[in-house]
Amino acid sequence: MYDVLIVGAGPVGTTYARYMAEKGFKVGIIEKKTRVGVPLQCAGLLGKQIKEVNLLPPEIIINPFYGAYLYSPSNHILKVSKNKPEAFVVDRVGYDQYLAEKAVEAGAELYLKNNVRDIDVKSGQIEIKNGLNNFKGKVIVGADGHNSVIASKITAQPQLNNSLHAAQFLVDFPKDLFDTNYVHLQAYASTAPGFIWMIPLTNTQARVGIFGSYNYYTLNEILKTYMDSKLKFNGYKIVKKYQGKIPVYHSKKEIVKNNILLLGDAASQVKPTTGGGLIMGFKCAQIAADTTEKALENDDVNLLKEYETIYRKNFKSELKTQLMVQKIFKSLSDDDLDHMFIKLKEEGAEDVISDHGEMDDQSPLVKLMFKRGILFKILPKILARGVSSLWK
Ligand SMILES: Cc1cc2nc3c(=O)[nH]c(=O)nc-3n(C[C@H](O)[C@H](O)[C@H](O)COP(=O)(O)OP(=O)(O)OC[C@H]3O[C@@H](n4cnc5c(N)ncnc54)[C@H](O)[C@@H]3O)c2cc1C
Repeated sequence: MYDVLIVGAGPVGTTYARYMAEKGFKVGIIEKKTRVGVPLQCAGLLGKQIKEVNLLPPEIIINPFYGAYLYSPSNHILKVSKNKPEAFVVDRVGYDQYLAEKAVEAGAELYLKNNVRDIDVKSGQIEIKNGLNNFKGKVIVGADGHNSVIASKITAQPQLNNSLHAAQFLVDFPKDLFDTNYVHLQAYASTAPGFIWMIPLTNTQARVGIFGSYNYYTLNEILKTYMDSKLKFNGYKIVKKYQGKIPVYHSKKEIVKNNILLLGDAASQVKPTTGGGLIMGFKCAQIAADTTEKALENDDVNLLKEYETIYRKNFKSELKTQLMVQKIFKSLSDDDLDHMFIKLKEEGAEDVISDHGEMDDQSPLVKLMFKRGILFKILPKILARGVSSLWK
């Protein structure tokens, strides 16, 4: 009998596994794949907070970024810059494997090629597809990603497990195009709530991707049209194509039931504005591990509910702000976006964002822009009032 049995050896599940093993508990991880982390389904962009919330060995970092270029539909550009690295693009496959190794080194037992098919929510007994294993855990953790079997069993409303599609190309460019210190983000009204990203790995290679409410085929077409429309990309070559899903965050999603808890993408712990899930997932892994320790030591699984309470409390304000920003983005036309970029530049927002912007905690910047009156100048009154209501 394991103290905790984790379904899914993704980065969030293995981070939680490491924390629990380090606390001295007996930990099992069940993974359906033959190799952890493969195939790549991520842009691998991590805000600087990563250094506070998890291990990140230097060999995993491909490139640090000091800022971003943001492009409006008609190519008005905002440049946001910092003195120190604000983000990193990582070898995500290598990172997943590194985190799994660290969990195993700490004492967790990893079982590959075991596909969890079902779970009995009352007893916490899980069923493996090939039926060979009889795994048992006092606490079961669903860290099995966006299409979580465990979430489907404990979430009352199936729509709370919804996801958006994401598509990404690895692109080679014939000539040096990039200042590799910056990521490039392109906004169009038609892609909202998603946007196009270009993340340089070298000055002639980038990850170019998009997420949104379209299917994979349409997202691929949007990306190709975008690449073809830029003269400077002439002669580009798509080296690889990737696809994946990004869960939609829902404030009402239940993440604890009996002795079962959800973590990471399975819990829809992603930032609504960017779809990024790693930093938030890692923060939640720590909360979940501390709560599980308490529950196991007191032999009382009811204490697991505390994980959900702390999670909601810690992220409430940030997620509310991001949902509002997303709602505003979805309501704007291309003309509105162009107008907003022009106004932002006029109002000196590049400096404000450069000085106060943070990839993972966006609410302080939005609040500051509201306080300085910038939001009222760039947004239609009704939308600006909506944002201000967040702090009333
Ligand atoms: C195209 C794309 C780009 C992205 N870019 C970024 C980015 O730049 N930055 C960022 O922070 N986030 C990004 N994300 C999101 C990020 O990849 C996820 O938030 C992150 O992978 C979540 O980690 P996880 O451990 O919760 O789940 P996952 O990484 O999905 O891991 C889940 C694991 O569970 C296993 N599993 C699933 N079902 C079962 C089962 N039934 N039985 C056993 N095992 C099972 C899977 O095989 C997998 O190994 C991106 C996502 C996509 C799709």
